[in-house]
Amino acid sequence: MAQTIGELARGMQPSTVGYRAVDRQTLALDALSKLTWQFAKEPDFRRLVDVLVLTISGQFTVGNAFAVVHNPHMQSGEPLCTGSGKFMTDTMPVEMLKCPVCQDYFLQHPHPIRVADLEDFHALREAATRAYESGVRLVTPLLLGDRVIGLIGLGEKVTRKPFGDDEVDLLATLANTITPFIVNSFLFMEIASLNAWYLDILDSVRQGVFVIGSDAKLQKVNSVGVEILKLCCGETIDMESVFESPLETLFPETSFPGWSRQFKLAAGRRNMRQSEHLVAKTADSERIFKVGFSRVDQGDGGEAGLVITLDDVTAIKESEERLFDLEKFADKGVMASSIAHELNNFLGMILGGVELTRFALNKGNVEKAGAALDKVMANGERMKRYTQGLTDFTRLETRKKIADINAVIADVLSFVRVQKKFTRIHISTELDAGLPQFEIDTDQIAQLLLNLVNNAADAIQEAGRDDGKVTVVTSGDKDSVTLTVSDNGCGIPPNVKEKLFMTHLTTKENGHGYGLVTCSRIIDHHHAVVTVDSEEGQGATFRLQFDLHPEEPSDAVASDTSPETDSFV
Ligand code: ADP
Repeated sequence: MAQTIGELARGMQPSTVGYRAVDRQTLALDALSKLTWQFAKEPDFRRLVDVLVLTISGQFTVGNAFAVVHNPHMQSGEPLCTGSGKFMTDTMPVEMLKCPVCQDYFLQHPHPIRVADLEDFHALREAATRAYESGVRLVTPLLLGDRVIGLIGLGEKVTRKPFGDDEVDLLATLANTITPFIVNSFLFMEIASLNAWYLDILDSVRQGVFVIGSDAKLQKVNSVGVEILKLCCGETIDMESVFESPLETLFPETSFPGWSRQFKLAAGRRNMRQSEHLVAKTADSERIFKVGFSRVDQGDGGEAGLVITLDDVTAIKESEERLFDLEKFADKGVMASSIAHELNNFLGMILGGVELTRFALNKGNVEKAGAALDKVMANGERMKRYTQGLTDFTRLETRKKIADINAVIADVLSFVRVQKKFTRIHISTELDAGLPQFEIDTDQIAQLLLNLVNNAADAIQEAGRDDGKVTVVTSGDKDSVTLTVSDNGCGIPPNVKEKLFMTHLTTKENGHGYGLVTCSRIIDHHHAVVTVDSEEGQGATFRLQFDLHPEEPSDAVASDTSPETDSFV
């Protein structure tokens, strides 16, 4: 049977060698501080614990020692264990650290203990015997709050004498000093690996990234950033000194005209993210960069730093310019298409009027035929006004007068209904008779409504419905009037919806994409706001809200000098 610890220890005398505890403590702490420096230079935690064990072995003149430590910032995971001599491969230190009974004991007795003395604690006897048999003579916990994060164990002394009280005290001092150091070192290592990860990411992006501190000096730059500096300032740039340089030196005026001023302005602005295009000069050409700024607040109310990203968009800009040239060539064709689209709408109204006239004449109703012809004339006039405007499309006029929008709607729909395109479509109206009259250009409102109902008819045809319905509704009060046109056509897909009114976009085989762009001009001129609701396959609703008291005074003749081709005069 194995000897008890008491038996094993019996006969050993406490060390009689006199220690000058203060000297030893000074030496030990000195050794630790050297360790700290070494670690700061090379943050390798395993090496740190290795050297710690060696240092302790030297201080206590023991042949064997171990240190076993948990990552203090993690609740789980295997502890890191390192030992000298016979503890090098022993699993006992890890078992001891993980043993709940040992942990309880050390929480209640947070100081070094001679393993022989553990015999008195019944619950610990098994673990203590195993430790003693493995050769541990003195063990101390490393405590962080209410957690045992590690143990340091010392084997027998070279002199084979038991540890004296002063040595126990020394180990206690060392343990107290080492614990915060270990906690910080773990943190330091995690920060270092986070930093390495962050630098890896910075280096893997295709933008140049510059991190500028609140002192306006460069703190970090990624490899693309360095390449940009070299490209613009020459290969000779001294990368050592750039970290100490102010922004003006980092981005000199000769290569980066106006850049440093822009950066300073950006750092002073409140909104966190902005971007703009800036031109840099290389030895033989110019490069265009999309420059992004993000202000980085320190969180302590101190001065803000800045992260600058540089994206070389020279190639994109060049191809955009080429496209722009092509667009200019295309403009003439664009204009012709736009005109054709609008004239087609007017012609549709005129043909509708002629149809109405013939219908009335067939019935012998000369009076109705005359009225229909008057409307044909009126539409001819609208068309004339439109074509006249085309001869001078740098000046587009809106002629507003107080009028009844319901009357315009009724007028347009009476012509639309008889058009072939609408024969199988039911057009219904709910026009609010109490609507206030307000300032409108009646021709433009007619043009607007025509575009909306024509699109509705196209959408119904596209959906292949034979129960097509278009509903025109007006409502309002003294402040605003709303005009709604809805249909049960094919609906508008989200990617088309988001571009409506902005670009010449069409999804129709013979479309041009001018209708809604024209509408958007009319809407603007009438201080109206448009909203579109649609679900694919469920139809669409266009809602226009006219503000009757716009802040901008409404002129009888408003002019628009933009050279857009989709004119309406
Ligand atoms: P175009 O009629 O020549 O295509 P528009 O500017 O009038 O030009 O319309 C642009 C696009 O908007 C149409 O091609 C169509 O995809 C979509 N659109 C407009 N109105 C509707 C509607 N009521 N239902 C479904 N899609 C519509």
